[in-house]
Amino acid sequence: MKHALPVTREADFAAWYQSVITEADLAEESGVRGCMVIRPWGYGIWERIQRLLDDRIKATGHENCYFPLFIPLSYFEKEAEHVEGFAKEMAVVTHHRLVADGKGGLVPDPEAKLEEPLVVRPTSETVIGTAFSRWVQSWRDLPVLINQWANVVRWEMRTRMFLRTSEFLWQEGHTAHASADEAREETLKILELYRSFSEDCLAVHVIAGEKPENERFPGAVATYSIEAMMQDGKALQAGTSHFLGTNFAKAQNIRFQNANGELELANTTSWGVSTRMIGGVIMVHGDDDGLRVPPKIAPWQVVIVPMLRDKPEDEEVVAYCRELQAALAGQSALGEPVRALLDLKPAKAANKRWGWVKKGAPILVEVGPRDAAGGNVSVLRRDRLYREDGKLDSAILPRDGFVGDVGATLEAIQTALHDQSVEKLRARITPVDDWAGVEAHFAEGVVNPGWVDVRWVRPTGAELDQVVERLKALKLTIRNAPTAQTGHDEGPCVFTGRPSVERILIGRAY
Ligand code: AMP
Repeated sequence: MKHALPVTREADFAAWYQSVITEADLAEESGVRGCMVIRPWGYGIWERIQRLLDDRIKATGHENCYFPLFIPLSYFEKEAEHVEGFAKEMAVVTHHRLVADGKGGLVPDPEAKLEEPLVVRPTSETVIGTAFSRWVQSWRDLPVLINQWANVVRWEMRTRMFLRTSEFLWQEGHTAHASADEAREETLKILELYRSFSEDCLAVHVIAGEKPENERFPGAVATYSIEAMMQDGKALQAGTSHFLGTNFAKAQNIRFQNANGELELANTTSWGVSTRMIGGVIMVHGDDDGLRVPPKIAPWQVVIVPMLRDKPEDEEVVAYCRELQAALAGQSALGEPVRALLDLKPAKAANKRWGWVKKGAPILVEVGPRDAAGGNVSVLRRDRLYREDGKLDSAILPRDGFVGDVGATLEAIQTALHDQSVEKLRARITPVDDWAGVEAHFAEGVVNPGWVDVRWVRPTGAELDQVVERLKALKLTIRNAPTAQTGHDEGPCVFTGRPSVERILIGRAY
């Protein structure tokens, strides 16, 4: 069967991923390595993600604010682990003026050297913590629950569009609490918020759990993640929530007077998801014809393409389409008005059709003179493009019936994509009891091994380092220890043979 993309997932998953990004007009190279131009369709998806997630963040009591892009280097130096973790990928501003170099170029002006270098934020714990130390005096000022939508810069060496870029867009939540218990509760509340957001809005099934010690955020006491499975069986860490204990409070001096008048350190948390989520949506829902955008995050859920022939009856077709668009906009789906676009660009209808298929608009409606005259529409559902015989599954439906059902159809598409993602993830997690089983599972040549689910003792320090090294030799990493330990039973740790305490997921990752 011929497909719309130049390369299939099976032939070359990495090249396929890149071709979706190009062919669906999501993003392109910018001239700066690791930084991308996000085009309107890609940015539209990000705006939908922002809108839906922002509502949930606010519904749980958080407020948005904004902190500066530049952070004084000394702020980082106060938290040793944090600065060590980020030092190798921080971009730094050292001058505030350029001068002519006498050869037609410009160089930083030695006279304009900043007294203190400014870091382009890789994350904002340090600057937000400094503000918290001003805002928090008494237990009455707690908790502080804030979030910011921003761009951050981490000088990544191996970049891939959306999944790992040097500049990325994200939200970062930062909170301060009177007790460790309350801060832990917040960390887990956000983990659950991310999990349900991913399931409900992105239709991406994820496993929520705790990261092992070696994968913790620099400076955190505990890091939790949601992990999604891509179609090639690799994991994607799609979001993280960190319990920071009093580490940052100590460094940033966030103290408060408790009800007894004693001075105490606050406990803080931080949590974020980024434009990486769009990469996850591509790798989970994309097929050999392009992207399939879940209706909740589709900038346009229904796209109407009139089949025009430069003839007088075109006018009637366009009028019919306009009415159809208005009727659709009057319907609601998934709790919001339907977003319907009438594509009047002067391109050939067939090119428009395939353009929207590649972009992954959930429903494509084509209208020719015969449809308009007969009160019909020709409908393609992007989640199931082909019939069993390999032909495009386009159905001619009465206009009014289609409009009346559109909400239910969009809901069905959202559910179908989610169901497929649940199935794909479940099918590729294999319980394994011993190390030999892990080695066999990930032996060279095994295609799409997915993840294994094993028992372990939760080693620390040098013992954990050894485990990490053993896994690294097979290009594996520990993804997380699922919060829902439904499958854990008695049995030996796959690494040490000692009685295990929990189950963890192991796999290859982006
Ligand atoms: P962190 O502050 O390191 O916990 O990062 C928060 C989230 O941002 C991670 O869980 C990722 O989903 C995402 N993220 C981290 N690094 C990158 C990157 N280089 N490009 C895109 N997203 C990223």
